[in-house]
Amino acid sequence: MERQLWKERPRRAECFPREVKQILTRTGGFLSGFTHSLQPYTGCEFSCAYCYVREMAVQKTNPHGLPWSQWVSPKTNAPALLARVARRGGGGGLAKARIFCSSSTDPYTPRERHFELTRGCLAVMAEHPPAVLVVQTRSPLVLRDLDLLRRIPRVVVSVSVTTDDEQVRRLFEPNAPGLGRRLEALAALREAGVRTQAAVAPLLPCDPERLARRLDAVADRVVVDDFFRGDGAGGRRSRAALERLREQGLGHWAEPGYAGRAADAFRRVLGAERVVESEAGFNDLAWLGAAATPLS
Ligand code: SF4
Repeated sequence: MERQLWKERPRRAECFPREVKQILTRTGGFLSGFTHSLQPYTGCEFSCAYCYVREMAVQKTNPHGLPWSQWVSPKTNAPALLARVARRGGGGGLAKARIFCSSSTDPYTPRERHFELTRGCLAVMAEHPPAVLVVQTRSPLVLRDLDLLRRIPRVVVSVSVTTDDEQVRRLFEPNAPGLGRRLEALAALREAGVRTQAAVAPLLPCDPERLARRLDAVADRVVVDDFFRGDGAGGRRSRAALERLREQGLGHWAEPGYAGRAADAFRRVLGAERVVESEAGFNDLAWLGAAATPLS
């Protein structure tokens, strides 16, 4: 089938560095297994066509008047704020925190190469480890920080690998790193002794068994999600991406239930214990040895 190429090539995002008052945000809803999310940036340069954040307040109330993915705002005091939290005594530090980094940006958005804010936060957490840290990214830039990641006891690096088809990847994630580089990053992380997760989220058109075979050697486990369960709004925040799939003649990949069928294929290749799904899967932290005690 002939697929149209993505027509609008996103331009380089404008950058608005700023200081913020707070760096950890209490979680709930989709990330109920975590206590906090950590976003070293607001905005994101990766421009995924399905990004539900463009439908959220962070974009709708952004003061820059720019479309999603055309702005990024580094929180320049993020490491200093996190260090201040870490130094708090009386159980108020990071020791009980289960942190997801990040849910509304990519902590390795390209400006991280210059600002090193995610790296600064990891340095704090290497000294003051949280109960759990999940680093969620699409970028092999995460390998730069292997020295710090290896010092954090209960960390998992979760790399999004949403398809095995580079043409599909270019259609839906035009500014994000290619699939081969992400798989290489997972392999290098695992080789270095860091736990790895492949986030097939949202699952895009692919050959599920072939993708599972590619992930077998590089991911400790795989979490599969779809537009309907994964955007926190039953697919409403994913309208543009669903429409894009239909335009491309790939509408059967936009029907509720498609990811569950693909997950069955993943289980056949990887074994049931290595494949989890959607919200329950993202929040299942037992495999990291996470303390089940809630924060006071
Ligand atoms: S990397 Fe994440 S936050 Fe950034 S555009 Fe893609 S889906 Fe959105």
